Amino acid sequence: MEIDKFKTEEKVTWCQGCGNFGIWVALRQAFLELGWGPEDVLLVYGIGCHGHMINYLNNYGFDALHGRGLPLAQGAKLANKNLNVIVIAGDGDQFGEGGNHFIHAARRNLDITCIIHDNQIYGLTVGQTSPTSEKGFVTKSTPHGAPDQPVNPISLSLASEASFVARGFSGDVKHLTKLFVDGLKHKGFSVIDVLQPCVTLNHLNTFQYFFQRVYKLDEAGHNHNDKISAFTKSFEWGDKIPIGLFYKEERPILEELLPQLKPEEKSLVDQDIYNIEIKSLFEEFK
Ligand code: SF4
Repeated sequence: MEIDKFKTEEKVTWCQGCGNFGIWVALRQAFLELGWGPEDVLLVYGIGCHGHMINYLNNYGFDALHGRGLPLAQGAKLANKNLNVIVIAGDGDQFGEGGNHFIHAARRNLDITCIIHDNQIYGLTVGQTSPTSEKGFVTKSTPHGAPDQPVNPISLSLASEASFVARGFSGDVKHLTKLFVDGLKHKGFSVIDVLQPCVTLNHLNTFQYFFQRVYKLDEAGHNHNDKISAFTKSFEWGDKIPIGLFYKEERPILEELLPQLKPEEKSLVDQDIYNIEIKSLFEEFK
């Protein structure tokens, strides 16, 4: 099948039934729908179970340090503005170790996409409370229940000025594929937080938990151009959990605001760096 061109021959080692499978399938389906080839995409991975996907996807891939996918992805995009750059992150990875990077990448509005595998737990290190774990959640790192308020990925993205903010569910691959396609087509910083049940370590936020609660924002008549309404929806969590596009706006991307990267200029990687006149620069420091 054509979709298999995005898949490697590596044995997949995620636990059976893991929510990562749905994201893996939806992403490949999205590449196919966008007409992209394996060579058109760079995926930058953080650290976590999600990061194993570097072994299973047949694209350019780079393993960053924990929480550092975004700085690396921004550097790659600035160097080669023609590349489609995607960050694959986890909830601990992106909102814990990489929290600061997230805020500034969002407001900077480079044309990249950040996909968060949000299983509300540290899976790779076998089950500690993560920044998105629910208050009171009992894990080996919080035996008396998590005392902190969780990070809200949607309201954080909105407050950080991300220009495309969505939430998907790995149990609804068709809907998730559409969100990926729309996020990848969006010109600007797009965030897609994906509810990704960890079937081995998180026995609270299970597939069943989400199947009983999720509903689609577009079917509920949500206006994704209205930021106040998006904020209101972002606080909805409990018996009803909204998925879909919360907010989208068109505004200039960073690449358009930097003279070196204007559309008429070549990508930095395509520019001649061997014949640059730097003598005058050195003169200034004499
Ligand atoms: Fe998936 Fe959880 Fe297993 Fe990691 S530990 S592979 S997130 S089910």
